Amino acid sequence: MATMESLIGLVNRIQRACTALGDYGGDQAFSSLWDALPSVAVVGGQSSGKSSVLESIVGRDFLPRGSGIVTRRPLVLQLQKIEGGQQEYAEFGHLPRRKFTDFSLVRKEIQDETDRVTGKTKQISPVPIHLSIYSPNVVNLTLIDLPGLTKVAVEGQPESIVLDIENMVRSYVEKPNCIILAISPANQDIATSDAIKLAREVDASGERTFGVLTKLDLMDQGTNALDVLEGRSYRLQHPWVGIVNRSQADINKNVDMIAARRKEREYFATSPDYGHLASKMGSEYLAKLLSRHLESVIKARIPSITSLINKSIDELESELDHLGRPISLDAGAQLYTILELCRAFDKIFKEHLDGGRPGGDRIYGVFDNQLPAALRKLPFDRHLSVQNVRKIVSEADGYQPHLIAPEQGYRRLIEGSLNYFRGPAEASVDAVHFVLKELVRKSIGECQELKRFPTLQSTIAGAANESLERFRDEGKKTVIRLVDMESSYLTVDFFRRLPQEVEKVGNNPRDNSPAAAANNPDRYAETHFRRIGSNVSSYVNMVSETLKHSIPKAVVYCQVKEAKQNLLNYFYTQIGQKEGKQLSDLLDEDPALMERRVQCARRLELYKKARDEIDSVSWVR
Ligand code: GDP
Ligand code: MG
Repeated sequence: MATMESLIGLVNRIQRACTALGDYGGDQAFSSLWDALPSVAVVGGQSSGKSSVLESIVGRDFLPRGSGIVTRRPLVLQLQKIEGGQQEYAEFGHLPRRKFTDFSLVRKEIQDETDRVTGKTKQISPVPIHLSIYSPNVVNLTLIDLPGLTKVAVEGQPESIVLDIENMVRSYVEKPNCIILAISPANQDIATSDAIKLAREVDASGERTFGVLTKLDLMDQGTNALDVLEGRSYRLQHPWVGIVNRSQADINKNVDMIAARRKEREYFATSPDYGHLASKMGSEYLAKLLSRHLESVIKARIPSITSLINKSIDELESELDHLGRPISLDAGAQLYTILELCRAFDKIFKEHLDGGRPGGDRIYGVFDNQLPAALRKLPFDRHLSVQNVRKIVSEADGYQPHLIAPEQGYRRLIEGSLNYFRGPAEASVDAVHFVLKELVRKSIGECQELKRFPTLQSTIAGAANESLERFRDEGKKTVIRLVDMESSYLTVDFFRRLPQEVEKVGNNPRDNSPAAAANNPDRYAETHFRRIGSNVSSYVNMVSETLKHSIPKAVVYCQVKEAKQNLLNYFYTQIGQKEGKQLSDLLDEDPALMERRVQCARRLELYKKARDEIDSVSWVR
């Protein structure tokens, strides 16, 4: 049957789980769960005896104590009861897996760890130290030791320290799940107690404040604290508890905890003032009181804790899904995983080409803008200028000028012109190649499943780019072939349809016809060559129109369609021949991601355990 012990133990374990995973915290679920779990914080003026009270609740010497500012960072102390007869030990959050059995080393580590953050100064830091103590002699509790409230900054402290401490302490005790242990020394007037002042501010009704009066033994002869302890001076919901801790002299003499507790018991039992209250005084009683109170708080909170845990579990499950489950060690399963990942990438790549994802439209942009613009810019004006036509035709004629039409000259002029088409044809292939390459890059980036496998990412990118290179070569060969085909056989009909050279005679001064220029051989020649140039130009324009349409067809056929259908085919045949080691190398994961998955899985396991435990105790009344 579940007991109070197991209930508090449960909360303690959840808290410890949270602490253990603290580095990974910062997420909402983590901090809200932490806030929902009850804890006990000590509040009071400097040297009021806070650390001493905590120690006597724990029953162990392990805290740095003394005058001046000793506690300079919050200490989150988790007490965990273990079976009787077992070895007591302590563990720090910042030193996991190192068990401290010597508690004087625990004290030293607290001091060192404080200095590590604050330096050996009188400065403070809000970064908590986490410490767990496992012992048969403790009750399950989470206690927080805090720096003491002060009134003035002393030498070596910044002016702001008074407020800094107060704010830090307040940030702990203002949380509604925080049980406040308000420590006031009995040798000071309760009306001046910093602890009570702050506690009243954050817990006006006093529901979660426990008044603790220390240093009863140090009161002036002839005075006593009955007015406070019996609730007449300052009334709290919970009864006041008086405490006698070890004095500095005791500490210096190494009076041990057992002896100190015995001394405290004797003090109350034999005290003429407090004898009648003896059963409700002292550190042991305080520990019991706290743990009983904690139990009722926890019971009231179980539903909200459960729902938080369930929420965290859901979130972790979905994060794990997102991170991907661990990969199998079996080569067959690994091959399957790799192929799945390739397919996932390929699907995204296709979506880019077919629409649905952006980028494929840029290929059309090449055909619709870039190619026509490049064709328009070809330097036919220069190539078919009268001078050039005359030069080429004359060269083609050789010693015997042509008689009717310069057949050879035409051919050379056309061939020379068509050569210019190679440039834009190849440029279209290149432009589409770069669009495809960019889409490969983009698709890899967008493929969530691939995120965790950087090696596979670059391997797929490499394989895809290799294929694209091959498609580009094929594309270039094909478009060049289209251009060459145009040069290798001219459209005869075109030339047959051209008007014959010698026809009508006209008087129009602007008439350029050969007949009009007949009596001027120079003009005749110029008009003649101009006409040849314009004929060639019309022919070239016709070819240009044809290529404007056939180049895109070739590019799509050789590059786009191939990329869509066969981008990774070559890779698939290669990967089929790989062995276990090579496959697992491909599935090499980003170490940060692996770590994240491990963390996630660990948290999930802890939360699930916590949920099971809560299920098993929550029916207890
Ligand atoms: P903190 O600054 O509030 O943590 O106070 P400490 O626990 O460090 O105690 C400050 C000093 O007061 C130490 O020297 C303790 O020995 C001493 N002290 C604390 N409580 C008592 C007490 O009940 N009686 C006596 N005689 N001395 C005490
Ligand atoms: Mg202290």
